[in-house]
Amino acid sequence: MMKSIRDIYKVGKGPSSSHTMGPAKAASDFRKETPEADAYRVTLYGSLSKTGRGHGTDRAVMETLAPIPTEVIFAQETPEDIQHPNTLDLVALKDGREIARQRVRSIGGGDIMVEGRSAPGQSEETYLENSFAEIKQFCEFRYISLIDYVELNEGRDIWDYLLGIWEVMKRSVQEGLSTTGELPGGLHIDRKAKSIYDHILVNKHPEVVECQLVCSYAYAVSEQNADNGTIVTAPTCGSCGVLPAVLYYIKDKRNLSDMDIAHALGVAGIFGELAKRNASVSGAECGCQAEIGVACAMAAAALGQVFGYSIKKIEYAAEVALEHHLGLTCDPICGLVQIPCIERNAVAAMRALNSANLAYFLADTRRISYDMVVKTMYETGVNMNRGYRETSEGGLARLYSRRG
Ligand code: SF4
Repeated sequence: MMKSIRDIYKVGKGPSSSHTMGPAKAASDFRKETPEADAYRVTLYGSLSKTGRGHGTDRAVMETLAPIPTEVIFAQETPEDIQHPNTLDLVALKDGREIARQRVRSIGGGDIMVEGRSAPGQSEETYLENSFAEIKQFCEFRYISLIDYVELNEGRDIWDYLLGIWEVMKRSVQEGLSTTGELPGGLHIDRKAKSIYDHILVNKHPEVVECQLVCSYAYAVSEQNADNGTIVTAPTCGSCGVLPAVLYYIKDKRNLSDMDIAHALGVAGIFGELAKRNASVSGAECGCQAEIGVACAMAAAALGQVFGYSIKKIEYAAEVALEHHLGLTCDPICGLVQIPCIERNAVAAMRALNSANLAYFLADTRRISYDMVVKTMYETGVNMNRGYRETSEGGLARLYSRRG
């Protein structure tokens, strides 16, 4: 069983689906349940506590609950009964007395789970299949494409939804390309998208032009995200630049229609949703392989759809894209979704193009399935040292802060 691909594409404000969108949703839902509260206390644990300041978790929660006064606590210790790395406690107060409390997990991609309440119900399940092997078998048995498969399960209005998603993606590319200045957070990083794009015409190396175009688009969206702009999770905020970058590039290059892109988003959504369902799209849970790796797989699958590949070739493109991100750690400097995140979106966009090209001539030699690589990604993620799962205690984040 698998949810609608609408679940993967959410419109929201950056910089983090698990650290800003999820907690903001938790606060908003809790507020609706506690209209009599005159104050709130929110305690952040695990990765939310370690990198919440850089990601702006406190700001997102306080803005959602405003004007009701809210105290946000970054817990130094995580109680033993807390299972998920992105957990927060919400407490509603009235005249200084606690009137309600809730423990919530921010599980990635902007989704939340309230502890003690049942997981999303069966009614939210849109697809009966639970693996790409099942999906492939279903399609091949009926001689239908992945687009037909999506429409069969989601209904025709999925294309209107995805056209709307594409509009937001396009806007995030265009706004990112026309904005300059320093990103917030204190790292003093200047936006680069416009400068990369502006230098394309004067570049003397034609082979670099594709790279510059794709990278400028990826930077544009990722910089919008880092600057609290409106983006689409694909599958998360931190990895939101990969898919729009390749689609913006290929639409122009091949003169495609918006509906062609909606179809590509539909196919990409299947691969994203499978990863979310059978593994994770949370950097705090499985490292950056779960965010950028899945984004790259989605982009490679989208390109495969645009190139008119068979189902087998599309799967190969997605599998290669994810396979070569296995083990990728999440180590954002100062907890900001900037270094290495923005550049990483650009590199992954290029890798998606390479994976789709590789699939063109190597798909017949394939030994590894998408399902297998998704499972491996999850196992690798849960075995990864906690310092490399969005805590900013390992990797680049640790060395950078040491140098001061
Ligand atoms: S390193 Fe990757 S997973 Fe971690 S915050 Fe950056 S983009 Fe997200």
